[in-house]
Amino acid sequence: MYSQAIAQNLGDLCAYYLHFACLILIITHTRIPLTSDPQMDSMTENPSRTDVAYRALRQAIIEQALLPGTKLPEDQIGAHFGMSRTLVRATLARLQAEGLVDAPAKRTSTVARPSLDEARDVFEGRRALEREAVALVIKRWKPEFGAALEGHVREENAARDRRDDRVAIRLAGEFHIMLAAMSGNRVIERYLSELVSRCSLILAVYGRPHSSECAVNEHSAIIAALRERDAEKAIHLMDHHIGSVEQRALLLDGTGSEADLGAILSRYPGSPEAGPGVVALKPQRRKGSK
Ligand SMILES: [Zn+2]
Repeated sequence: MYSQAIAQNLGDLCAYYLHFACLILIITHTRIPLTSDPQMDSMTENPSRTDVAYRALRQAIIEQALLPGTKLPEDQIGAHFGMSRTLVRATLARLQAEGLVDAPAKRTSTVARPSLDEARDVFEGRRALEREAVALVIKRWKPEFGAALEGHVREENAARDRRDDRVAIRLAGEFHIMLAAMSGNRVIERYLSELVSRCSLILAVYGRPHSSECAVNEHSAIIAALRERDAEKAIHLMDHHIGSVEQRALLLDGTGSEADLGAILSRYPGSPEAGPGVVALKPQRRKGSK
């Protein structure tokens, strides 16, 4: 009996380590494309179009121009970017892998609408990774990091001053992605980028409309602590900052609305021959409406 129990435990332990090893393999070998992925592109018939469509849709979602729940019909996206349904599906699958799109079988894909539980999980995961990123940045600190971060904060302030909400939201997220890149840990950088994008969706559902909820002066305080190479202070400030963002974000239960997809996407680099020739997308009609 005793040896049987040991064998069972050993079996479980092996299964656990096998699972863990697989996870590490997936993390190190799966490339979730955040910007351009030449490996994936080379497998598709028209790499530039899928990449352009992916970036435009991703940016429109992060900037909250396309709100959670917005329908993303394959035919309209295909017409807009001049690509086949197969390529549209591949593009939507990339966005789905990053948690930005819901693509249920046999139904029109939509911009993802995170549940409250999911939103809390995303913020919890983000806080853990942001703490780690800050600690790593301090270990590798260079004066150039400070100059780059301060330059970014100046851009954030300028976007706010000219009330450019879309750009302000994107820049606020990019501050955190920039820090993650400075950590030198590619896994942290990739997953933090994904979580920052998903936070933008959460803000679109639960926060005030068109808000990043990132206080720019809090970004400046974090930079000052990084410059002092005071890890304890920088981690505390980052933790407090993300906590405040979460608190401000999860205030309201927002509602997504039907959007004029074509009009929204026309503000983004649409297709390789973007310009007057781009096919405009028509807004989706509700069932029963004329
Ligand atoms: Zn922030």
